[in-house]
Amino acid sequence: MIIDVKNIVKERKQKLKEKIEYLKKDGIIPKLVVIFASDDPASEIYVSKKRNMCKEIGIEEEEFLLDLNITTDKIISIINKLNEDSSIDGILVQLPLYKHLDENKILESINPDKDVDGLHPLNLGKLFSNKKGLVSCTPRGIMTILDELGINISGKNAVIVGRSVLVGKPIAHLLLNKGATITLCHTKTTNLKEHTIKADILVVAVGKAKIITADMVKEGSVVIDVGINRIEDKIIGDVDTENVKDIAKYITPVPGGVGLTTVLSLLENVTEVASNKLN
Ligand code: NAP
Repeated sequence: MIIDVKNIVKERKQKLKEKIEYLKKDGIIPKLVVIFASDDPASEIYVSKKRNMCKEIGIEEEEFLLDLNITTDKIISIINKLNEDSSIDGILVQLPLYKHLDENKILESINPDKDVDGLHPLNLGKLFSNKKGLVSCTPRGIMTILDELGINISGKNAVIVGRSVLVGKPIAHLLLNKGATITLCHTKTTNLKEHTIKADILVVAVGKAKIITADMVKEGSVVIDVGINRIEDKIIGDVDTENVKDIAKYITPVPGGVGLTTVLSLLENVTEVASNKLN
């Protein structure tokens, strides 16, 4: 069955809107700043999606659109000012950056309490040690989907294909923290199918169209397809959805799946940071 992610997001967005209205009564307006230093056309689309959703639910959003002449030091000095500005709750550096920029140095300069993309080493460390911190958006969104489906994660075999810092590693830790037994696969994994076929929960974040075929999926499993692949004019995932959808109990669609919960999670993170001002 294909999961109705659009509906999940619609309901969560409504709850978030209500939370923001409540914050506004206390004079708190959540605010996100996006730093855009990239010539990646896909990133422009992602930023416009974030901008639109912010507007829709009442989060203030500001963008720094930086041209190719920008330096790492200049971006860090912008971030330092944003770190000190108490009206700003979240700082997001849209990746990938221009190639000449030092991504790690820039991400590490963000105040971890405003790191709504959850990529600062401190937040990654908190996730690793199962402590409360800001969780990166795509993995958080996947947990939202599992939560909305009422999936009991404890004791399940969770197989993750892809070990990036952005998706694979954090989702592995989130699932581990909920009691799943984790297998993390990557390019050095021999016989991928041997692992995926045992997955009660299969998360695929590779970036290769239809790398997961029906014979690799366990009957009755939950399949989360994170991949985004542009093939001719179409966007498809990493899973052969047409043939997997009757084997798996649930599968996320692409497009209209994890991408939607990623943006939602960003806004949830910004709102959570803003809510801390109530304490
Ligand atoms: P990434 O940094 O390129 O990582 C890809 C991972 O896949 C790597 O760990 C790589 O292994 C592994 N891999 C590549 N080929 C493989 C193979 N044949 N067998 C097993 N593992 C293989 O990518 P990413 O940032 O995690 O993104 C993955 C996909 O998700 C992309 O399509 C991206 O566009 C999409 N994405 C979607 C969202 C969303 O919101 N929907 C968000 C983020 C990313 P090695 O480590 O060994 O190289």
